[in-house]
Amino acid sequence: MKQNSSSLNFDDNRRKKTHKNKKNNNKFLSIIVVMVLAITIASVSYVSYSINEEKTRGFDVYLGDNHIGTIRTEDLAHEAYHEVEEKLTNTYDMEVVLDKELTFEPTHAKDEELTEKNELVRNIERNINFKVTALEFFVDGESFGIFKSEDEINFVLDRIKEPFVNVIESETRKSVLTKVEFLENIEMKPVEVNYGDFVNEEEMIQLVETIQQGKEEMRTHTVEVGESYWIIARMYETTVDELIEANPGQDPQKLKPGDEVNLFVPVPLLTVVTYEEVEYTEATDYPTEVQQDSSMYKNQKKVVVKGVKGISEIVANEVKHNGILADREIIEEIVIEEPKKEIVLQGTKELPKTAARGTFIVPTRGRVSSPYGMRGGSMHRGIDIANSVGTPIYAADGGRVTFSGYKGSYGYMVEISHENGYTTRYAHASKLLVKSGDRVYQGQHIANMGSTGRSTGSHLHFEVLVNGVNQNPSRFIY
Ligand SMILES: [Zn+2]
Repeated sequence: MKQNSSSLNFDDNRRKKTHKNKKNNNKFLSIIVVMVLAITIASVSYVSYSINEEKTRGFDVYLGDNHIGTIRTEDLAHEAYHEVEEKLTNTYDMEVVLDKELTFEPTHAKDEELTEKNELVRNIERNINFKVTALEFFVDGESFGIFKSEDEINFVLDRIKEPFVNVIESETRKSVLTKVEFLENIEMKPVEVNYGDFVNEEEMIQLVETIQQGKEEMRTHTVEVGESYWIIARMYETTVDELIEANPGQDPQKLKPGDEVNLFVPVPLLTVVTYEEVEYTEATDYPTEVQQDSSMYKNQKKVVVKGVKGISEIVANEVKHNGILADREIIEEIVIEEPKKEIVLQGTKELPKTAARGTFIVPTRGRVSSPYGMRGGSMHRGIDIANSVGTPIYAADGGRVTFSGYKGSYGYMVEISHENGYTTRYAHASKLLVKSGDRVYQGQHIANMGSTGRSTGSHLHFEVLVNGVNQNPSRFIY
């Protein structure tokens, strides 16, 4: 630029001089010579400058704020940059993002001042930080951690699926697993993090456990006949101690049907949904036809033709949630064997008064002075109900008197067979009002209370036996 402007000045001078010294031809000629000479020099030097200017054109390369070299063409820097990215990508086996960008400023430099590619690569590596593209794993929008790759998330998911993908087959059941998925919405979103800021193998195994153990949810169980804390604990795969903890104020010894027991039931954080096409044979119930028979008592039933279950082959689609059947769609049912109906005779005749009803009434009035169970080192096989001598004793249910008389430590006693497996005994009586062989009805006055036999005061000793084995009478009369 400087040389260029000076040549313009020269041109300008020439015009002024021409104007001032029109008549001096010699001088004019010499000026022209000088001028031509000057133009020639200027032109030659301009051409040589131009050639030189083009030859030395280049760029200063910056990575962020750092000058990392001088190059002839931008391509070289881009190549170096990608080489670093590629190296890192190969090293970490992940998509790599460098944290600084290249910028270029035009400059001039001689060949020997230029930076070589190897040096550029080194300078980039020295000045760079990088992020890797990892995947964040979400279940229903909740983050379960950042993972190196989809493979590692699948490692966790496969572990969760594992217990449910083996279909159960037997001689009577064929099954084909057609699909496995999760009930929850699973997402993987790319996220840029520092290398290493993702879950390691140990944490992945821990996550599997956390998902399987799940969160505890409070549920209640309604107690059924014969259930104890121990049985309930086994049903829900928990412990008696945990039940006690979940049910403050409840006495496990006094559990009765209808009581509600709190349970902490673990609910896994992921639900594996499996779809199966199944084929199985199934026993089908037979219908029952009831025919009335006036020659039989109301409480009597008799099977005259035994029913036979049928066999059907079922083709169905089953959907299970964590291995538990959630839905079954029957596609086809092929009857292999029709069920055969059962014919039952049902009596219509009114029951005799002395027939057992199958329930017991409390056989006398008084207070329970001694319960059933161990007492002073020996077994007390009945309950004692104490009241004054002469208090009436009633038959707990209808039946036939099988003993009425004096029997050792029982004293005066009545024994009634209820002809349904149950027998009752009424001991220590002061007076007997029935004799062996009599039929008695429920609530019939059969004896009076006393203190005969081995007895320390007036009371009724009442026993209940099932097929000859003593039971706790409290189970039947309260
Ligand atoms: Zn007793």
